[in-house]
Amino acid sequence: MESCIACSMPLMQPAEKGCDTKDGPVCIHCAKPEGGMKSCEEVFEGGVAFFVSATGTEDRSLAERLVRKTMNGLPYWKNHPSSCLKGEQASDEEFAAAMAKL
Ligand SMILES: [Zn+2]
Repeated sequence: MESCIACSMPLMQPAEKGCDTKDGPVCIHCAKPEGGMKSCEEVFEGGVAFFVSATGTEDRSLAERLVRKTMNGLPYWKNHPSSCLKGEQASDEEFAAAMAKL
């Protein structure tokens, strides 16, 4: 199954895909309306908003660290380093606990 190269969201329905880029498919949340991928900052913000609503946490710094860990684990961001992904990352325990709530 394809997944978004920017945020790792699985693309289970055609409607969930925003566009294809030369690096791979991008989900509707990470694609710009005119095509192509949003900036790292925008993808990051979208991920933080997702984690906050999906896990019900009020701990924004935890959500930021979870998203940073997810994005830093993706090949796309390894090949396209961005300053917005520098900083603290969630531990494996925090990550597993958050995934269990999704
Ligand atoms: Zn995405």
